[in-house]
Amino acid sequence: MREHRLGDVIDDHCIKCRRVTNHSIVSILNGEAAKVRCRTCYHDHDYRHEQAPPSKKDLKKQELFKEVLSTVAPAVIADPPAIDDPPAIDDPPAGVPEKKKARSKKA
Ligand SMILES: [Zn+2]
Repeated sequence: MREHRLGDVIDDHCIKCRRVTNHSIVSILNGEAAKVRCRTCYHDHDYRHEQAPPSKKDLKKQELFKEVLSTVAPAVIADPPAIDDPPAIDDPPAGVPEKKKARSKKA
């Protein structure tokens, strides 16, 4: 693994820019970047290994998703589609009498 040096430019996720930007290493711990500074907005923060922190919006989305799952899943299991009793489509419709038109052809 390549050893980082102070001032090296590496990619990391910047919260302020909300994307991966170039960062300068400002602090190194055990040969790994510990603190970095965004080259775009000069915001200092811990090195995140290019991982975006889960935003509050994402957390809320996850919560909602779990909520929806927990409410929908049991209903789906309790009410399976009825496949044992398919509609009889081969039978002729009831209540329609067979009428034969008696056409008398007079020659
Ligand atoms: Zn930034």
